[in-house]
Amino acid sequence: MTKAILVAGGAGYIGSQTCKVLHQAGYLPVTLDNLATGYAEAVKWGPLVKADLRDRDVILDTIKQYDIQAAIHFAAYSLVGESTRNPAKYYDNNVAAATDFASTLVEGRVTSLVFSSTAATYGMPQTRLIAEDHPKNPINPYGASKLAFEQALHWMGQAHGLNTIVLRYFNAAGADLEGEVGESHEPETHLIPLICKAALGKSPPLTVFGTDYDTKDGTCIRDYIHVIDLATAHVAAIERLMAGGGSDAFNVGTGEGLTVMEVIKAAEEALGRPVPYSLGPRRDGDPEILVADVSKIKATLDWTPKYSDLKTLIESAANWQTIRPY
Ligand code: UDP
Repeated sequence: MTKAILVAGGAGYIGSQTCKVLHQAGYLPVTLDNLATGYAEAVKWGPLVKADLRDRDVILDTIKQYDIQAAIHFAAYSLVGESTRNPAKYYDNNVAAATDFASTLVEGRVTSLVFSSTAATYGMPQTRLIAEDHPKNPINPYGASKLAFEQALHWMGQAHGLNTIVLRYFNAAGADLEGEVGESHEPETHLIPLICKAALGKSPPLTVFGTDYDTKDGTCIRDYIHVIDLATAHVAAIERLMAGGGSDAFNVGTGEGLTVMEVIKAAEEALGRPVPYSLGPRRDGDPEILVADVSKIKATLDWTPKYSDLKTLIESAANWQTIRPY
């Protein structure tokens, strides 16, 4: 019988791609989403249960109806700037509602959970590559809320036997290669979609945030990971838990860093058109360099990125911005 996986936030950017990869791997993804930031059109590979993380009765019924074997939790707010202006919104959803959700899973006897966390839990890097045991000193409420829920999950694991794998993403980017799902954030704040939109004439010229960093061209370095590679990491994590693996945490990135200018130049080459941009001041709270040490996930989950070269990232993101069905 097809195993059903509950995907909270399955109507969002990374959640919907993960539903596709779960489906391809032979699972039934059952999406739980209140559609606050997700899209019903993105739910294509299994049912959509339109409900909130706090809808205990609906979630318990769903677990029973589909015989849910494991869960993935994506349903969180993720805008750093908004989190600094409205921290309570982030603690309420990303910690309090998420804790209610985890409690309901425990009540429904679902004991395997994969949680979408973030490199923002580390704060300012103290080493060139960031490993999972790097000190965690988040510098914004978004990162702090993700870290708080990681800690809640640790203690709920001890108390109730809820096994969780925490995946700490670096910079998610790119879109489905068949254009079936993609990134439709309103407002869009991320570099790669903004570059594509600017190149396609669908948004104003990009501003490069800061040119005086201590990097080869003065712009910030990030580790960009394709959303399909992120999705396969979730499936690998779910399978590890369902095979009896215990709680753990993994970075998900490529281990390679790129400057903002390198991404712009690669986009100009891949798209064969200029990317209009201007140089501006630093954005508050941007660390100079964020690059993952990915040795642990490669060794433990037998996972490796396959689509995270810049050409594939840019071309798939630009294709999505061209078609944009939602
Ligand atoms: N960035 C930029 N201009 C923009 C958006 C982003 O120069 O309009 C830079 C940003 O300062 C950072 C990198 O691009 O160095 C990636 O930013 P993004 O917001 O995509 O992800 P973050 O690293 O903040 O999670």
